[in-house]
Amino acid sequence: MAAVLQPNAIPTVKLLINGAWRNSTSSDWRDIVNPATQEVLARVPMCGADEIDEAVKSAAEAFKTWKNAPIGQRARIMLKLQELIRRDTKKLAACLTAEQGKTLPDAEGDVFRGLEVVEHAAGIGTLSLGEMAENVATGVDTYFIRQPIGVCAGITPFNFPAMIPLWMFPMAIVTGNTFVLKPSEQDPMTTVLLAELAMEAGVPAGVLNVVHGGKEAVDRLCTHPTVKAVSFVGSCHVGEHVYNLASTHGKRAQCMMGAKNHAIVMPDASKDQALNALVGAAFGAAGQRCMATSVAVLVGEANNWIPDIVEKAKSLKVNAGVIAGTDVGPVISKQAKARIEGLIAKGAAEGCKIDLDGRNVKVDGYPNGNFIAPTVISGVKPHHTVYTEEIFGPVLVIVSVDTLDEAIALTNANPYGNGTGIFTQSGAVARKFQNEIDVGQVGINVPIPVPVPYFSFTGSRGSKLGDLGPYGKQAVHFYTQVKTVTARWFDDAAVNGGNSGGVNTTISLK
Ligand code: NAD
Repeated sequence: MAAVLQPNAIPTVKLLINGAWRNSTSSDWRDIVNPATQEVLARVPMCGADEIDEAVKSAAEAFKTWKNAPIGQRARIMLKLQELIRRDTKKLAACLTAEQGKTLPDAEGDVFRGLEVVEHAAGIGTLSLGEMAENVATGVDTYFIRQPIGVCAGITPFNFPAMIPLWMFPMAIVTGNTFVLKPSEQDPMTTVLLAELAMEAGVPAGVLNVVHGGKEAVDRLCTHPTVKAVSFVGSCHVGEHVYNLASTHGKRAQCMMGAKNHAIVMPDASKDQALNALVGAAFGAAGQRCMATSVAVLVGEANNWIPDIVEKAKSLKVNAGVIAGTDVGPVISKQAKARIEGLIAKGAAEGCKIDLDGRNVKVDGYPNGNFIAPTVISGVKPHHTVYTEEIFGPVLVIVSVDTLDEAIALTNANPYGNGTGIFTQSGAVARKFQNEIDVGQVGINVPIPVPVPYFSFTGSRGSKLGDLGPYGKQAVHFYTQVKTVTARWFDDAAVNGGNSGGVNTTISLK
């Protein structure tokens, strides 16, 4: 059965359990809505504990054999999966744009960044090597091996429905675990297409399972006695709940959460490069990136550049993601749009200056889309709501400071620590910033410094719980447990007085 499409009705998104796609028996269903048109694309079930339990049971059964599948077999499935994702990139991007709203080039980027993790996962042979020390005592060796931990679960957000599931399940299964994935209920169809490709690539039944839903499904995964690890990406309030619930139920947990990313613009920055990067990072993907620049910290004379920032922001084209040349697509839902507009209104009410107001934008041909045009707010102080809240929309707030020290202190005092950047021509300034800033991902004249998969995604303070990241070497550590073995071998021939090199020993096995 196809996982999404069904003739003569609104399609339903299926569950993948034990290698078979099937309809949920839930009585609670949500619409998946095209954010540019409000067209209902499909319906997604909100699974209850019974269906989660079935998925976990299937994963537990599959783990019994998958954990000993040869490394080469696991790696070859990843090689095949990357080939299939390349084959279907356009199809995946079209689905992603329809259900999430981002532009087609951005959607292809979403797929590509996930694909890079799959490529990296194919190198599991060298990534998962253990270590050995010979002669820790006379004739005794100690070594460690990395073993899979069992059934793992992943819970993903709406903003990267290809990349973030691909941060998780390829790394989990290539290390020998089995997986239950719960994509965002707002845009699960792209993730389902990826799971179909994983099955086509040869992932055995039960090794990857897909369930749907919200709090009830997530809470069951976090408390199920068989689940050993939970990887979560999403907002802070849900992430803190997931971390507490999963860890108090004895599971490994990693939660990558919300952000308020500061870009520091020094007066010596290469002006055009810096402002182009700033505007792209603030408004691309309609600001719905966890690594979007949402705060520009202008230092000293860089404050004269506010009109230039406004002009560049004004020049961006707001339209449906399917229209060529679109820079800013719609935000995910009517509720998200209302929330973002409410925060802009609050900024004005609290005395900030709205230099560019993207509310009430009209888009020809798409009267019902959730559009907000780029919005620039200056005169912002740390107590203003537009500064304290993660807006997650195409809104750039500007804070003015006099010195680099002030910019660093401001950034470090913010509760979030996901990403940051500095624009400067001075190596000494960049070096000081890199050294003193308390943020996970740092860009130096690079606006969105998401690390490639041979490194790991990270985050500090309020943006992350758990010490290991979701891809790269850290994910190998997250999804495996270390077993040390201390070994001593006896030379039986010698014990029995045979001719084995003349070792004469009195060791007795009694
Ligand atoms: P969200 O927290 O609303 O949802 C994330 C997941 O949690 C979804 O699968 C959802 O179904 C589930 N969920 C929602 N409410 C729940 C509840 N009460 N209990 C249990 N589970 C629940 O996040 P979102 O709106 O989908 O995504 C946007 C957020 O994700 C932003 O805060 C963004 O910064 C963050 N994000 C962070 C990173 C990162 O790597 N740090 C990456 C992408 C997105």
